[in-house]
Formats: sequence, C-alpha cells, structure tokens
Amino acid sequence: MQRNILTRLLSSPCPRLQRYKSVSLTSEQYPNLKRGDFARLQDSDVQTFTRILGSGNVLTQPDDVEGYNTDWLRTVRGQTRCVLKPKDTEQVSEILSYCNERRIAVCPQGGNTGLVGGSVPVFDEVVLSTSQMNKILNIDLDSSTVVAQSGVVLEALDTELSQYGLMVPIDLGAKGSCHIGGNVATNAGGLRLLRYGSLHGSVLGIEAVMADGQVLDCLNTLKKDNTGYDLKQLFIGSEGTLGVITKVALALPPRPKSINLAYLSLKSFADVATVFRRSRADLGEILSSCEFIDKECMKCVTENLNLSNPLGQSEFYMLIETSGSNPTHDEEKLNNFLENMLAEEIVSDGTVATAPSKQKEIWQLRERIAESLLVDGYCYKYDISLPLSVFYQAVLDMRQRLGDRVVTRCGGFGHLGDGNLHLNITTPNYDQEVMDLIEPFLYEWTSKYRGSISAEHGLGFKKRNFIGFSKSAPAVMLMKKIKQEMDPHGILNPYKVLPDF
Ligand code: FAD
Repeated sequence: MQRNILTRLLSSPCPRLQRYKSVSLTSEQYPNLKRGDFARLQDSDVQTFTRILGSGNVLTQPDDVEGYNTDWLRTVRGQTRCVLKPKDTEQVSEILSYCNERRIAVCPQGGNTGLVGGSVPVFDEVVLSTSQMNKILNIDLDSSTVVAQSGVVLEALDTELSQYGLMVPIDLGAKGSCHIGGNVATNAGGLRLLRYGSLHGSVLGIEAVMADGQVLDCLNTLKKDNTGYDLKQLFIGSEGTLGVITKVALALPPRPKSINLAYLSLKSFADVATVFRRSRADLGEILSSCEFIDKECMKCVTENLNLSNPLGQSEFYMLIETSGSNPTHDEEKLNNFLENMLAEEIVSDGTVATAPSKQKEIWQLRERIAESLLVDGYCYKYDISLPLSVFYQAVLDMRQRLGDRVVTRCGGFGHLGDGNLHLNITTPNYDQEVMDLIEPFLYEWTSKYRGSISAEHGLGFKKRNFIGFSKSAPAVMLMKKIKQEMDPHGILNPYKVLPDF
C-alpha cells in the first residue's frame, strides 16, 4: 500500500506535485556550512569500488544517483556522484576500510524514508545503500527470534514472519520502503511502541562495520546477556554516524489472533486525553495502539489524497487498537469501553472495525498524513515528546505565533500513547520568515516543559544544532568523544547528529 511513496509522488501528473522536483542543493541552502576536509572522488576510487562490488553495484550516472541524493520530504539535496550497493558484510567492510584510508566520506542509506535529512549526503559523500543486503538469515521458532540483513524492507520481514505466527515488534507508515537496519539506526518508534516497547528492548543483537572496516559482531539472539557494556545499544539511534549496521537480531512477539480497531471522533483535546487515560486502565493488556489526529490533519489527508472519512467533521479523531488472543473477550472489552465513553459523552461518535480490509482503510487516514502534507507544498515537520498536560498546547501556541502569516496549515497528529506529537506546518513554498517564527521558538517551548525536540525521527542533518535543548553539555561532549573514538577521521555520515559547535 505504502510502497514507493516517493516514486508515486514523482510520477504523478498532478501539477501541484511538479514543484517538488526542484529541490535546492543543501550546500546552497546552508551557505555557511563548510565541506569537511575529505578526499574528492577520483576515477581510481570508482575502479576500486567496482572491483569490490562488481560494475552493476556501483552507480555513477547522474540519473541513477539522483534519487539517492534527495530526501523523502524533498527538502534537502546532496551531490553524490557515486552510490555503492554491497551485498554482504565483507563488501561493506572492504569499502569502509578503503574509504577510511582515503578519507572519503560515506553516507549510509536504507530505504531513504528518514525525515530529518540524515539519509542523504550534504555535499558529495559517497552513498552506501543497503538495498541489496536484503536476506532474512534465520527465523528461530523456539526462541521467537529473527536474524536478518539490515536492508530487508520492514513490511517484507513482517509478511515473512506472519507465516510462523510471529510479527516484527515495530510498524510505521513507511513500512513498504524503510529497512529494518534503518529502523534500528534511527531507533524508530512507530504505531505500536505503546505495546511492544522501543527497539532498545527488542533488538537482541547487531552486527556492524566500523569506520575502519572492522566487523563488530554483537549479533546475540539471547534474551539475557550481561557481559560487559551493551555495545549494540550505541548503534540503536546512531543514525549512521558510528558504523554501518549489517545484521540485526530481533525478539519477536506472537502475532495477535484478534485485532480490533476503534475509530472515534471527539470534541476537545481534554476528551482525547480522558479517552487515552481510560483506555489504558480499562483495556489494559490488549491495548496496542493509541493515535490521534486533529481536524486540520484530517482535512489534509482526506482532501489532498481523496480519502473518505467514515465519521463526520469533528475537532479530533482517535484510533484505538486492541490486539489479543481471544476475539470474543477482546471485542466485548472494547465494546464495553466504547459504550461507556459514548454514554458519558466523552466520545461524540465512533465505529469499530474487525475486518482487516476495513481496518486498513481506517489506518490509511493516519498513516498517509505525512504523504498528504507534501501535497500542500513545503512541510516544516516537528516530532516532539511532551507531557500529556501540555501536549496539544504546542499546536495552539504555534498557531497563535504564526498568526495571520500566510500558512497553508498548522496541525497535529501522532502517537498520543507515547506522548509523541507530530506538529506540521505547511506553506506553498519554503518561507524563511515562517521558519524564523518556528525555530528556535518551538524547541524552547518544548524544552520549557522538559520534552524532547526529537521523539523518534532523530536529529539527522536538520536538527543536530538543537541537541542542547534536550541534552546537557556534558552529555553532548561524551557523544563527541565516542564518535571520535569510533570514527577518528569522521568519515561516517558527517554533518549529522552532532552539533557543528
Ligand atoms: P533511511 O531514511 O535510509 O536512513 C535513516 C538514517 O539511518 C540515516 O541517518 C542513515 O544514514 C541511517 N542508516 C540507514 N540504514 C543504516 C544502516 N544499515 N546502518 C547505519 N545507518 C543506517 N519514524 C518513526 O520513528 N515512527 C514512525 O511512525 C514513522 N512514520 C513514518 C511515516 C512515513 C510515511 C515516513 C516517510 C517516515 C516515517 N518515519 C517514522 C521515519 C522513517 O521511516 C524512519 O526513521 C525509518 O526508521 C527510516 O528507515 P530507512 O530504512 O528509510 O532509513
């Protein structure tokens, strides 16, 4: 369903989409940013890469590399002249060892669905794409674990596991394109973190290639292993700056036998918060997702993508999913909960979908919001963690600050159950005045309430200089020391995660 969203957007004849084709070069958008002291690619380098990978796996034609230079949001564009597509760990190791020696900067790339500009080069870094490292290596039914190469597409992995009654403990709107290695590299959260926890818990092991080509084998499939520092955790969320993740071992939950999805409309955010609190208490162990959408984002996804909303116009909407093993018990529990919410007039209207096809239709309204925002033009995308008490105030205060400044929309949606708000502002084209109204105001606002300026998308290129709003100076200093130790020449994803200063 979500496969190749970018391709679909680019091939659409819709004239409103045509303007995404001309994304300014990152180096022009950020003229003060200086290229690092890295080697420039020579013909001899391409010859070496070709020797290691074979000619079909080294792309150098401008048309072939174009898609690897531009991010999913179409907001940043690098100038790589070379994309490398290794098939296994040994090839990654040989490439990095060579690049480290030659001081060639490398940008690791998975499915290129990242939303903070981390997956594309800033200048002319060589792109190392994991798209050909797409083998599922072992599924162990006794321990419910899987070992896979990092380039396996999330949806493909989940589909394979479904045959064994298992599932990947992470799900997100980009599942048809993002890679499991990219998910781990960004510590992606997604739609069911509320139930299955973060990847820091479900990743059992990692194999990664360090900047100098050394292979770090932390590929455990054990649930318990307290032998020294847990090094794999360093790579989870490191966004390609500490090593290239080549293999991942995951603990897998059983695939639920019964899934129900309640889709609700509500009058106020206070009601949304009440429903969330009550759903946790009343649905308990079967609650698997709690998402919310405001009126503005619902309008965007229905109008821009021509989707229909089975409930009428409302200020807010919620998706509450339950997953369990006993359909009768789960349905009864959910229905009781909803009857109470309706009787107490906390929920205005609602519907429960039990059929997978109906559930898919409703999930589209939530999962395709990111895609629909791009149709407006330029999207200023924020992903913050906040306490529930001030959660939606961020959108209201931002709207007030933007005032009558010409903005197409300012709305919120996201993973309410995880305290994670996706705040989005759109304008027909990039507008520096709008940007100046948003940043650093929103980061200061978030920091005031002890929130996180990046809940799940990471810092990548765009947010790295704001790390100080969420992390102390000594913590940032320690991160820099770790980077220096693991990548002394700074060849891995330069200009990402760590601040310039
Ligand atoms: P890429 O975008 O290719 O790369 C992301 C970062 O990881 C880059 O810094 C890159 O250098 C690094 N990287 C990639 N692969 C490797 C590797 N093998 N080794 C080392 N570094 C690597 N994110 C969420 O957290 N939750 C969501 O619910 C969510 N929903 C989304 C919905 C849509 C429609 C879209 C477009 C994006 C969404 N995202 C979400 C963001 C994005 O999908 C995730 O960050 C995803 O995990 C990125 O995976 P990827 O394979 O596309 O990585």
